[in-house]
Amino acid sequence: MFKDDCLFCKIVKGDIPSNKVYEDELCCAFYDIAPAAPTHFLVIPKDHIGSCGEIDGSNSAVVAHIFEVIAKVTKDMGVTDFRVVSNCGERAGQSVPHLHFHVLAGRDMTWPPG
Ligand code: 5GP
Ligand code: ZN
Repeated sequence: MFKDDCLFCKIVKGDIPSNKVYEDELCCAFYDIAPAAPTHFLVIPKDHIGSCGEIDGSNSAVVAHIFEVIAKVTKDMGVTDFRVVSNCGERAGQSVPHLHFHVLAGRDMTWPPG
């Protein structure tokens, strides 16, 4: 369930403080420590999953749940235009190896991403 040396598992456990925007039994959402947009929070499963590349039939239900949470939290915040990003692997920009979805809003976004 938890991975001992994982930063985001420590945030789930409360061993490392975070500025939470949402929490339930399956996931939690908290503001990114280094925001890349005026609104930037992360949504993570409480159970440790390394990245998008580890999603399979045994753990994919939480991903659907997380997208429901993203829709609810953004609605509650009054945010209508936003981007959801999950970096998978170091070369794609993943720095924390616990599955997380960035939710970015509050500025114009460009495409393609860098
Ligand atoms: P990644 O680079 O893996 O796609 O995203 C990891 C994100 O976690 C980064 O945007 C980084 O700023 C954020 N982050 C790293 N350490 C912490 C922390 O201790 N607390 C919070 N709230 N965010 C963190
Ligand atoms: Zn973890």
